Amino acid sequence: MIGTAVGTAQEVDQALSSPKQVDPYFPASGDPRYRVHRYELTLDYRPGPNRLGGTARLSALAGPEALREFALDLADFRIGRVLVDGKAGHYTHRAGKLRIRPARPVAADAAFTVEVHYSGNPKPVRSQWGGLGWEELTDGALVASQPVGAPSWYPCNDRPADKASYQLSITTPSPYTVVTGGRLLTRTTRASSTTWVYEQSAPTSSYLVGVAIGAYEKVLLVDADPGAVPQTGYVPTGMVPHFATDFGRQPQMMRLFEELFGPYPFDGYAVVIADEELDVPVEAQAMAAFGTNHLDGARGSERLVAHELAHQWFGNSVTVADWRHIWLNEGLAKYSEWLWAERSGGRSAQAHAADAHRLLAGLPQDLKLADPGRKLMFDDRLYERGGLTVHALRTALGDDAFHRMLRDWATGRRGGVVTTADFTTHAQRYTARPLAELFDAWLYRPELPPLPGARAGWLRFGQESRPA
Ligand SMILES: [Zn+2]
Repeated sequence: MIGTAVGTAQEVDQALSSPKQVDPYFPASGDPRYRVHRYELTLDYRPGPNRLGGTARLSALAGPEALREFALDLADFRIGRVLVDGKAGHYTHRAGKLRIRPARPVAADAAFTVEVHYSGNPKPVRSQWGGLGWEELTDGALVASQPVGAPSWYPCNDRPADKASYQLSITTPSPYTVVTGGRLLTRTTRASSTTWVYEQSAPTSSYLVGVAIGAYEKVLLVDADPGAVPQTGYVPTGMVPHFATDFGRQPQMMRLFEELFGPYPFDGYAVVIADEELDVPVEAQAMAAFGTNHLDGARGSERLVAHELAHQWFGNSVTVADWRHIWLNEGLAKYSEWLWAERSGGRSAQAHAADAHRLLAGLPQDLKLADPGRKLMFDDRLYERGGLTVHALRTALGDDAFHRMLRDWATGRRGGVVTTADFTTHAQRYTARPLAELFDAWLYRPELPPLPGARAGWLRFGQESRPA
């Protein structure tokens, strides 16, 4: 049953604050004995030698037990100094863990600061999905850390539930543009270097801090509405005409998603086109990175434009408490692709659901959506089945209740962390009909349930497509 499968939301929350609880998929990542509420990263990056160095200053809060020692996640860098509350601490640095013993233990529930001076040649963290995190490009760098690549470039408490605000100052040779999510506070040029200072005040998970450094042309995506969310493209020169077409409907998409999911949760949205091919685009806080292969001048990848934008609500603003709940990110982003198609004159969500169902029916059925395991957490089937699960819920609730449910979820949980149990409890409030069986079949059993909404009575909602 649902209740016993993952525990109530309260149980999960309690478990998360327990000192022993680590992410079941990445037990080596993060340290649940404290949390960080602000990172101030002051870094210098030289693209030629691929050299990164500087200072990370973390403001943190100890948990219910005093800290004689604690750990940060940080890849192989040279460590200069480590200060806790301004005093030098002892540390060891091995296998991606910077273990720090403060001169005096941090008291239970006490605020404390950590300062780490470090430098080196950043490289991606190796994983089953290839390199994660800081990646040197032909001319510049790109950071895409999901799920555990953040320590490739800064010391962090690398768990998605530990969300913090960020100030990011990066100095680099002046011809390069530095892009990250958040507001650009200052840009100062001295001699041949420029310092870019960005502030991201919204709670941000470590894996969602994105950075792009390169020679980009800035393109504004203008909406007729003066109150619209600022949307900017950073595009290699020469790709600008393609970009203007391929992302031309993003302002419309933004308006639709604000209508469906509530106000856009951040100050602006930056889209970077890295001057390379990328297997898949990647979301970051208030930012997304695509590859040149996602531009064709014919909107061939528009579903991905919708997918990455939807992650700003689902994944970035409303974040998984741990990686078991990844379907909440990907299922809702997938379903947003279908909603965009349906509402912009394309095929209905029902037609997309039928395709996804046909596809899954021909593939192995050994994936439990609500806890897929680390190996399958980015499996294509998780995305498709995630979309289908959301569609099953829409079919059960009806359009009105479904859209209220989704909007309330994104606005009510804004900036927070969530579990699958939180979502199922939330959805149940929108119907008198018990949903336990539906969730059991779609989330907790591997067999593929029948296609939802296939009965004639439910086909009509898919045909209400109208231009957005
Ligand atoms: Zn996604």
